[in-house]
Amino acid sequence: MDGSHHTSPGTLPLVSRRLIVADAVRDATGVRGDAILLDGPQIAAVGQAADLRHPNLPEDRYPGATIVPGLRDAHLHPVGYAASLNRPSLKEAADFAAVADIVAAAAATTPPGSAVTALRLDDESLAEGRLPGRDLLDRVVPDHPVLLIRYCGHVAVANTAALALAGIDDHTADPVAGSMDRDRDGRLTGVLRETAVEPVTAALGGLSPPLTTDQVVDAATALAAVGLTGVGAMVSTDAGCWAGGGSELDSLIDAAPLVPITMGVMVIASDPADLERAAERLAHAGGRVRFTGVKIFADGSLGGHTAAMHEGFADMPEERGTDRLDPEWAADLARASLRLGGRVAIHAIGDRANGGVLDLMERLIAEGADPGMLRIEHASVLTAADIERFGRLGVTASVQPAFMASETGWLHKRVGPDRLLRTYAFRSLADVGTPLAGGSDSPVEPPHPLPNMAAARDRCGIVPGQGLTADEALALFTTGSAGAIGESALLEAGAPASLTILDADPVLADPTALRAIGVLATWVLGRSVAVPSGVITWTA
Ligand SMILES: [Zn+2]
Repeated sequence: MDGSHHTSPGTLPLVSRRLIVADAVRDATGVRGDAILLDGPQIAAVGQAADLRHPNLPEDRYPGATIVPGLRDAHLHPVGYAASLNRPSLKEAADFAAVADIVAAAAATTPPGSAVTALRLDDESLAEGRLPGRDLLDRVVPDHPVLLIRYCGHVAVANTAALALAGIDDHTADPVAGSMDRDRDGRLTGVLRETAVEPVTAALGGLSPPLTTDQVVDAATALAAVGLTGVGAMVSTDAGCWAGGGSELDSLIDAAPLVPITMGVMVIASDPADLERAAERLAHAGGRVRFTGVKIFADGSLGGHTAAMHEGFADMPEERGTDRLDPEWAADLARASLRLGGRVAIHAIGDRANGGVLDLMERLIAEGADPGMLRIEHASVLTAADIERFGRLGVTASVQPAFMASETGWLHKRVGPDRLLRTYAFRSLADVGTPLAGGSDSPVEPPHPLPNMAAARDRCGIVPGQGLTADEALALFTTGSAGAIGESALLEAGAPASLTILDADPVLADPTALRAIGVLATWVLGRSVAVPSGVITWTA
């Protein structure tokens, strides 16, 4: 007889147990066997199928496959990703004419008075090599407000109608921590940087249809389809910089009961009260969505020349970027998050921004904060002294290797040869003992974790000596990214049964083969996530 005879008090009956069998079970420490015994939402045992098999135990067999701990992405924007799947993309546009065509086509299907929002504008891949301006947009779409958002989310281009709705004209002064490009005569070009984008997204917020719950759920399901079992979800209490239609937090909370993967939400909040309200709402959101902390910005992007640098950019020496960190405001918000049991994640790309954030985190640690709750997002360009400081403090570097895939053509000219050696310095950070977490920042980059893992190893050719080993790259997207969102990716009894099943071994594969590995199944908390065939994603 089986069933209850084999259970001990506190465990589920045998009926909730099942065995998942593949060719290998592997984590960053090596091969652990070929099977995992699940007990409801938890792992019960890891080992050889021959030892774990039982006549009445159901088996799911994946011949030829490798099971790894559930892949986690420590930093992506789920509502922005949903927007990127449902709003026009400019990523493939070759030149201004192609941008104009895409915007005109979108306007043709948009009711009069509604806003046209297009995402993933990339001046580095346009033939003109620069951002388009409002004159082009006014010419093609005079009768709708238009906002094009650069793929980094830190820079946008508005037409005259959109600027007018936000009450901006040529006489409007630049906001704090933001700027508006002007021509020689002081006339606005329509290019908005950092906080200068916010009044326009706010003015257009009610004029774009909000994303539907189905669209947000489908986007989250697409994340499962690429092998992700959990993510650090960056979500704004307002419209944010991607969706242009209502509060991102509202959209996610509406979808929460149907989201198939775990989401630890890092809230982009305006002040401690806004954060507390968001944490309270997330506590009751249901499903697999939970409050995980706060996200704060210290600077902008390398692409937009808005990363805060100690010295000017190599290709724009007079520009040292945009400092968005108000240390007192940020410290208050950080303390509020820690009080709520949340983490503190601060976006810092330039070396000056990273230094300022490390100063702030050093203060928080002196006040008693656990360094394990503190993360720097991107940690892109670092001084040698600050690499040492990462290791000494034990603050997590939340990195996005896939950025390099988009930046091979221009990163060297932006930061110059010396700083390039300490840009995305994964090897140096790991060598001083920095906890590392991997992410995509999607929709900045595609959410696919395997090409991202490959970029952590071969760096798309950029300073290959800063690459991680195959085991370290697997850890980056399993134990590393899980730790940064408060999840366990350990393959041990009692750990959550979140697993990714691949058609080849990601450690034995070289980086090129790793990019092509397929995802056979994604198990979240003991259940295989069904991915309907209509669910879409994008890769470039
Ligand atoms: Zn981000």
